[in-house]
Amino acid sequence: EVYYFRNEFLPKEDVRISPEDRGYYFGDGIYEVIRVYKGRMFEAKAHFERFKRTALAVRIPLPDMGELEAALQELIRQNAVEEGSVYVQMTRGTAPRAHNLNADTPPVVMAYCQKLSRPVDKMEKGIAAATVPDTRWQHCDLKTLNLLGNVLLKQKALDQGADDCILHRDGSVTECSSSNLFIVRDNRLVTHPADNLILPGITRNVVIRLAAELELPVEERALTVDELLGAQEVFLTSTVQEIVPIVTVDGKAIGGGTPGPVTQKLQQAFERLILA
Ligand code: PLP
Repeated sequence: EVYYFRNEFLPKEDVRISPEDRGYYFGDGIYEVIRVYKGRMFEAKAHFERFKRTALAVRIPLPDMGELEAALQELIRQNAVEEGSVYVQMTRGTAPRAHNLNADTPPVVMAYCQKLSRPVDKMEKGIAAATVPDTRWQHCDLKTLNLLGNVLLKQKALDQGADDCILHRDGSVTECSSSNLFIVRDNRLVTHPADNLILPGITRNVVIRLAAELELPVEERALTVDELLGAQEVFLTSTVQEIVPIVTVDGKAIGGGTPGPVTQKLQQAFERLILA
């Protein structure tokens, strides 16, 4: 397995991370997960734009993005990944532990890829979700390594026997532990606005685009837990999971407990896009 680390391609065993890496001390870093279909990165431009936006927001200097993109494509080639994902992260670098930012630490970039099939079973059958209060911070729009909130909230849902959490804050449904959430109501899609309380998902955007092509209206607005529980359909979207129906919420069946027609239509449109 070949990794990309500090501008080099090397075996995983040869990656050496310093105990003083700020990613290790503080979760002080950012990342992206990009899907690979047919050996190529899907929606690469959008992922790199989000990476740049997060880097700017957390004040980590950017590497040459053209070089980084070329390196990731080379990593995919060296690992012979046809269907899978690329993970790339950049920490603020190595420095003795102190909260202040030190302008002299060069960022540390690491990337690897994985062979990964599409989660066909979940996409066809759907999953169970549990509602959990969203106790994360106020910068959920930034794709940073600080994921302890997401990790603990997902575990709460798993402890209740569900597959994932649906988060809500001040009465509004935000997103899931590592995906965005949509509901279907009267043939319209509703999803939380892309503000500071959710990650602006690349897949979310693709779905909004596909909905426009299918002439399905999309409302980006706060939606309540009651609306969620009364929805005709509920689904989540993410790079790795694509579009997955949520067929029960807190043990209550949504739309009869099977994936609904609007979700399936979007899944088909998504599949046409990625296989094109
Ligand atoms: N929301 C959160 C919290 C995430 O971690 C992710 C990442 O997968 C998403 C939403 C979905 O974003 P994307 O579609 O870009 O993968």
